Amino acid sequence: MKTADELRQVPLAEAGGTPVIDRVFPRYNSLGTEEAEAVQKVMETGVLSQFLGCWHEDFYGGSKVREFETQCQEYFGVKHAITVNSWTSGLIAAVGALDIEPGDEIIVSPWTMCASATAILQWNAIPVFADIDPHTFNLDPESVRANITEKTRAIMAVDIFGQSADMDALRQIADEFNLRIISDTAQAPAALYKGKFAGTLGDIGGYSLNYHKHVHTGEGGVVVTNDDALAERVRLIRNHAEAVLNDREEMPLNNMLGYNFRLGEIECAIGIEQLKKLPALVASRQHLAERLAEGIRDLPGLQVPVVGEGNTHVYYVFPLLVDPLITGCSKEELAAALKAEGVELATRYQNLHLLPMYQKKMAYGSTGFPWSAEFSRQSVSYDKGICPVAEVMNDSTYLGFGMCVYDLNEADIDLIIQAFRKVWAHKVAAV
Ligand SMILES: *Cc1c(COP(=O)(O)O)cnc(C)c1O
Repeated sequence: MKTADELRQVPLAEAGGTPVIDRVFPRYNSLGTEEAEAVQKVMETGVLSQFLGCWHEDFYGGSKVREFETQCQEYFGVKHAITVNSWTSGLIAAVGALDIEPGDEIIVSPWTMCASATAILQWNAIPVFADIDPHTFNLDPESVRANITEKTRAIMAVDIFGQSADMDALRQIADEFNLRIISDTAQAPAALYKGKFAGTLGDIGGYSLNYHKHVHTGEGGVVVTNDDALAERVRLIRNHAEAVLNDREEMPLNNMLGYNFRLGEIECAIGIEQLKKLPALVASRQHLAERLAEGIRDLPGLQVPVVGEGNTHVYYVFPLLVDPLITGCSKEELAAALKAEGVELATRYQNLHLLPMYQKKMAYGSTGFPWSAEFSRQSVSYDKGICPVAEVMNDSTYLGFGMCVYDLNEADIDLIIQAFRKVWAHKVAAV
């Protein structure tokens, strides 16, 4: 590894020098011949989905659906795994299954993909954004506590970037206020919290299987829970609940307004193969992320990922925080110099509360429903300032490297480290 003085001798790529990395890293691809063969076998049966939207044995789907669900139950160590056609669908079904009423409030992180919060709105419930922990980017339990009102019914604990939220602290608050916990573990399958899989520690949780995630089926998701009643309610919402319940013994009808959230046989056949690969894929990403963190940890004004107590991190995103007071330049300037050297970083993530939909409180129709409805608390605020930690990160300190976007090896990681060290040698006076 070159010293800072040596690195200062070579001009930055943005100033006409030679970039450290002169190629685009290949895209991460978790698929192989196993998936292709599995798809071919399903094709030969001619049955691409066996679901029926009525009370029939095929209400629960075909053989690949059931096989994949059983495999997920065994792997994640849960009583029920329910496949869905996206994790967005899974989140909607999970919220509905929890006996949520219109106007109920669910506390959620603003630092997440938009569907964590819209799943709440789909039931005319109200997302309330609590701030995040400045190290792990997950919900700050103290901010959750401060946002509880008489309307609060649940906490949506998002396991962002690849590590679990602080589940012990959230569970304690949930127990104290009689709240349910939904885990959005889209980005953190196989991550552990105190030896147990993230996603399995709430009342209900689950994973995304979209193309961008660690393992995928193109589109898809899996809901997990140990609660029999919740599981059956999710299966009903997945598959035309209102029609199915017409033929079943009496069951509660609240939120039994169904969708078609069913995942097909081809996707489940792919999922079976992908799940077998998940542990090794995640272990390899962890190894590379740790190597990257070690290689840049000493750079002034740069915070490498912090792994929360009791957690393992699967690094869907490798998040960094820069302190502009120490680096003497903005994160955008650093990101531009790094991009010229061949390392592309995101300069923003999410501040969901600042989306136009929340700022204008306009979702269903144009009159402010459901916020304006009588059943809703009128004082819910999405003003800038409600989540100062998440806002400052997005505005001035956060940089994210998409670990799950590229197919990387140790030599690539060493080049990325060199690019960071070169940019710091030139741009950061303290080096
Ligand atoms: C990807 C993602 C989702 C949505 O999953 P889909 O399968 O794309 O619907 C929800 N929450 C988070 C945190 C995600 O990263």
